[in-house]
Amino acid sequence: MAVRRPLIALIAAALLFGPASAAVAAPPDPAERGPAAASPRGQSDTELPFGVGPGQRGRSADAPGRQSSQPAATAKLPGKPRNDVIADVPVELTDASIPLNLIPYHDIPAALRNLQRSNRISVEVIGQSVLGRDLHLVVATAPMSDAQWKTWQQLSDLRINDPHAAQAKLAAGAYANWRTPLFVNNNIHGNEWEGTDASLQILQDLAFSTDPAIVDMLNKHVFAFVVTNNPDGRVAATRANANGFDMNRDYITASQPEVRAVRAQLVRYSPLTMLDIHGYVNCTLIEPTTGPHGDNYEYDLYIKHALRNALSMERAVLATGETRASCTNSDGTRRNDIPFRDRTQGWDDWPPIFTPMYAMYHGAIGHTIEVPLNPRGNLTVAERHERTRINTAVAAATIRGNFEYATQNREALLANQLEWFRRGVDGESTRPIDDPLAISLARGDNVKTHLQDFARAYVIPAGKDQRSATAAARLVQFMLDNDLEVQRAWRPFKLGGTHYEAGTYVVDMRQAKRGLASTLLGVGRDVTNDFNAMYDISAWSHGHLWGATVQQVNGNVKLDDKALRPVTEAHATGSVPPGKQSHYGLVVDSVAGIQAVNKLLNDGVRLSRTADGTFVVPGDLTVVRQVAEAYGVEFIRMTPPQVRNTTPVSKTRLGVAANGGEIFALQQMGFQPISVTHTAFNNGTLSFADFDAFFVSTTAFNPLSLNATQAAAFNQWLADGGTIVGRGSSGKQFNDRAGLLDVTIAAGRSDANGIVKVVNDPASPITGNALPTAFVDAPQYFTRVGDGVRVDQRLAAEGFFLAGHWGGQEAAAGHAVVVSGVAKGANVTLFGTEPLFRAHPEGLYPQVAAALWW
Ligand SMILES: [Zn+2]
Repeated sequence: MAVRRPLIALIAAALLFGPASAAVAAPPDPAERGPAAASPRGQSDTELPFGVGPGQRGRSADAPGRQSSQPAATAKLPGKPRNDVIADVPVELTDASIPLNLIPYHDIPAALRNLQRSNRISVEVIGQSVLGRDLHLVVATAPMSDAQWKTWQQLSDLRINDPHAAQAKLAAGAYANWRTPLFVNNNIHGNEWEGTDASLQILQDLAFSTDPAIVDMLNKHVFAFVVTNNPDGRVAATRANANGFDMNRDYITASQPEVRAVRAQLVRYSPLTMLDIHGYVNCTLIEPTTGPHGDNYEYDLYIKHALRNALSMERAVLATGETRASCTNSDGTRRNDIPFRDRTQGWDDWPPIFTPMYAMYHGAIGHTIEVPLNPRGNLTVAERHERTRINTAVAAATIRGNFEYATQNREALLANQLEWFRRGVDGESTRPIDDPLAISLARGDNVKTHLQDFARAYVIPAGKDQRSATAAARLVQFMLDNDLEVQRAWRPFKLGGTHYEAGTYVVDMRQAKRGLASTLLGVGRDVTNDFNAMYDISAWSHGHLWGATVQQVNGNVKLDDKALRPVTEAHATGSVPPGKQSHYGLVVDSVAGIQAVNKLLNDGVRLSRTADGTFVVPGDLTVVRQVAEAYGVEFIRMTPPQVRNTTPVSKTRLGVAANGGEIFALQQMGFQPISVTHTAFNNGTLSFADFDAFFVSTTAFNPLSLNATQAAAFNQWLADGGTIVGRGSSGKQFNDRAGLLDVTIAAGRSDANGIVKVVNDPASPITGNALPTAFVDAPQYFTRVGDGVRVDQRLAAEGFFLAGHWGGQEAAAGHAVVVSGVAKGANVTLFGTEPLFRAHPEGLYPQVAAALWW
């Protein structure tokens, strides 16, 4: 689907910042809506207790922080992480929650202020959505003094910084009164609403109940709730956020602001349990999942508690008496759908793109919950409201079941998490499932795990070995943001017999969250033969797809501790060669490099390119220095012969028929893509004269559907040297319809995806300095290449499939996956790979940029 962002942004701005006097919607029946409807509106902020606790934050850097214009509150309430001022937002009568009898986004501030009346509650703004709506975290616990909170934080940090010491303290009773963090995330899919409503109901109890059982829980836990992870989607009834991203596929990439905001809270709390509440699956679905289970989890530790916690949640759901929320067994008993127990495959935890799976790398027993009844579509009002009522009750029941399990097993869960982290610092391999209950209940191969021997370290070299200093810094900062420890050499050193220069980064894998480091930096594994069906993608790798050189060091080698120092932040500083130069060169091998070129082009700097694709910048030292510093890119010296035969480059006016993820990736690079369709050309809305290049990966722009006038204009545009970049089967279809490159394409399985080893043509301006790996999804490869078509990149002839799931992969070995040529006067490039997939494989972006600039 094509997304026209500027239009959406304008509408959003109108919605968000419209007149404050907008009519107030008649609220739905308060009784069915939980605490929100009963809360007072328009209450003065100054009447509320504000707590701000500097120095009370988690071990990592603070959450992305507040950029709202709300005044910072200074008064302190003891025992609260932070209490932000929660201001009203404009009422939106079109909020999709309203006809569902659920809480609209504009009623959430009042509900949160109502909760803030309790000294057990703190509410924080932890970030903003794409359209600028605040994301809220509510934390509930019995009041703590500042000193108590500080102690709490120290014991919290100790779990990760020194699990051995934490285990000793646990044995000595020091954690007896430590409150374990439990985490609930809601509404990440905007059109799966009820987790938010259920959480506000539960929070009402946690805030105000005098029930001894609840008071006891508040003394044992710190409960953290994300009210909605996707407010834009909640209002608009969309699964995705406003950038078109399914954010429950983004946690390992974190390309979206909503994901980064919640990730920071998972890092901050390293919760013992984590629920991510979704809909809609019959019978109510409660994870743990089917296999294949991710290699880097301590799955034996996970499943022991995940399965019992799921059974506790199932009991709570059945206890609601809502018969539409469960299924009947053959013996007449009722059950929910627990995939580990009830299915054989197809609902796996393999990729940590999902929120709960990502949370597992922070030591959480993570669960996706799917409430049962879809309230969308053509239903009577009564039936729609009945469904959301049941779903809300079910979501609340799972939260209660989870909290009860965590209360009854508080110390066992903590001991389990410390053991998880201890194995990391001790460098132990993962272990098979040994829990008799899990073994007895598992269906199919669900009980199987693949035992993982972790690398000793990963090295990201500096100096002459280094592929891209910019990409290396980007990767290291990403790891730090994920709560991982990275060191850097201040002097040259040796590791595993290899000499490395000062500046080299080293990831010592003996750390608490090494599973996350392994899943980010390792390549993964080919699981084609393990299972027939996978729920989503089967491969990802920042180490292999983000553009930095990453080397794995195995064996029991000793790290040179004296040469290494911990890194707290990483950013490439960029550089300019000394002395006055007539020209500077820039080799684009990172996203920042693409951004730097687009910045120069947008500023009107006259650039040109050498035959090998190096950008040449005239010797204006001020501009070059500014760009080097701003983007962290390295300019090189260019000799007069090198700049003799260069081709001028101008700003690329880019049209796209692409998916939302690709449009986002192109914007990340600094392009300003405009969505195009054949209809828009035919009706005169768009003109070919306004474009230099088209990126096509959907059928929205069909050259055969152009009218005679526009077809002639298109052919003239091609003849004048236009640029076409096609991706996937739709890109190839566009190529054929426009009569461009003479190639034959074949398709891999539509559900196939993974990381492939490729061979690049060193003379190609598109792939000449490309990575030796690429990413494919629904792979396309070229089985015949006609005269005049260059093969820029092909799959390796042997062992090309490094990781993922691709049944029938053998047929593709050695075939071309990126081709280019001049056709009808135009520069045409076709990608059978997925270089922009969900904004993940950043290291492949330079290939697309090079093709667009060609
Ligand atoms: Zn969902």
